[in-house]
Amino acid sequence: RKGSVVVTGASSGLGLATAKSLAESGKWHVIMACRDFLKAERAAKAAGMPKENYTIMHLDLASLDSVRQFVDNFRRSERPLDVLVCNAAVYQPTAKEPSFTAEGFELSVGTNHLGHFLLSRLLLEDLNKSDYPSRRLIIVGSITGNTNTLAGNVPPKANLGDLRGLAGGLNGLNSSSMIDGGDFDGAKAYKDSKVCNMLTMQEFHRRYHEDTGITFNSLYPGCIATTGLFREHIPLFRLLFPPFQKYITKGYVSEEEAGKRLAQVVSDPSLTKSGVYWSWNKDSASFENQLSQEASDAEKARKVWEVSEKLVGLA
Ligand code: NDP
Repeated sequence: RKGSVVVTGASSGLGLATAKSLAESGKWHVIMACRDFLKAERAAKAAGMPKENYTIMHLDLASLDSVRQFVDNFRRSERPLDVLVCNAAVYQPTAKEPSFTAEGFELSVGTNHLGHFLLSRLLLEDLNKSDYPSRRLIIVGSITGNTNTLAGNVPPKANLGDLRGLAGGLNGLNSSSMIDGGDFDGAKAYKDSKVCNMLTMQEFHRRYHEDTGITFNSLYPGCIATTGLFREHIPLFRLLFPPFQKYITKGYVSEEEAGKRLAQVVSDPSLTKSGVYWSWNKDSASFENQLSQEASDAEKARKVWEVSEKLVGLA
């Protein structure tokens, strides 16, 4: 049978390119989990995705009720779950003030980390039931949270500190809106959320890989300088960033190529090793990359897991 894969944030950028690559392979049915149903439908049509190979389902990661509703709806559809791709993200580099999810968590960490944390915890059960030969849970990471890289050292750097803001609920009222308890910084909040994504993947691996056989992976697909992720950046940045990445850092990758890379992590029979953070070299060959000290800190991963469990109502 065809594999059945859920991709969050498949209405644009990397998620859409990945959905297209998988749908066109003919080997996958893609469930596009998106907050804007019409935008997703238009994007899938415009990309020419074969309509028998995808379904759109509503999911707003900035609402835990919506996450739970999505899981219910997905179960009702009676499709198996073979692979889950946590891809959606918001990035607010120019925001002066924090904005918040339905439950009152700062929006970047609330969406990118906490929404996906609840989704993947709930859907683990469904992955575990699948009889597909290689079941995978993939959480898209980034280089920017990795302070062992050049890009990860552009200030403000990711830093989760002692998690006091996260433990306080990130609500900007009786706790800080930032994980480390500091003043709001939209670019840092995004990077922190990506560190949480990479820590969560490793904690999943430690807790569940041996018992379930599920492969848990993260990846950095390259710098996709043209996606909507940069839509909130100042116009001059948006103009100069793609050529800068193309000609100066040479980290630039097209949406199509990045989509093929993520599709590879979904379906390539040779990429079954669990607990890996995949990257690609300049010849587009995949390799197991190293994470920064903070992004591979097992003690911090356990703490992020436990605090997040409380915030999303699992503990
Ligand atoms: P895009 O902004 O193009 O895509 C982000 C997607 O997330 C969109 O489909 C968006 O939906 C969706 N989304 C945002 N908020 C929510 C929400 N509350 N509920 C459901 N979906 C939501 O950015 P990219 O394609 O670049 O980013 C995809 C992933 O790639 C992210 O995890 C990002 O961190 C990662 N990444 C990107 C890099 C890059 O250079 N671009 C580099 C490294 C990693 P909508 O269409 O409705 O806005």
